[in-house]
Amino acid sequence: MAEIRSPRLLMEECRRYSAQLAELRMLLEERLHAAGGEAAAIEAALERMERGLYGTCTRCEAFLPLDRLRLMPHVQHCASCAGETRLSA
Ligand SMILES: [Zn+2]
Repeated sequence: MAEIRSPRLLMEECRRYSAQLAELRMLLEERLHAAGGEAAAIEAALERMERGLYGTCTRCEAFLPLDRLRLMPHVQHCASCAGETRLSA
């Protein structure tokens, strides 16, 4: 049997739900912040993948070697743009 609720109760429930969502959003943002730059880089990588730009250096647009991506899938720069000393592929 369906419970009949007054509009006031529905409003209260809605407010409670919104408050819970706000709380969970804060938790998510805390996690994201705790994960630091890596999480941001991962999000950016997923976004680039969605836009079809994934796998290229965001500075010089060179293709990133698959080995490099396997090692650091969220990497944004090729070895030379990242200033790495070892030779890039
Ligand atoms: Zn580059």
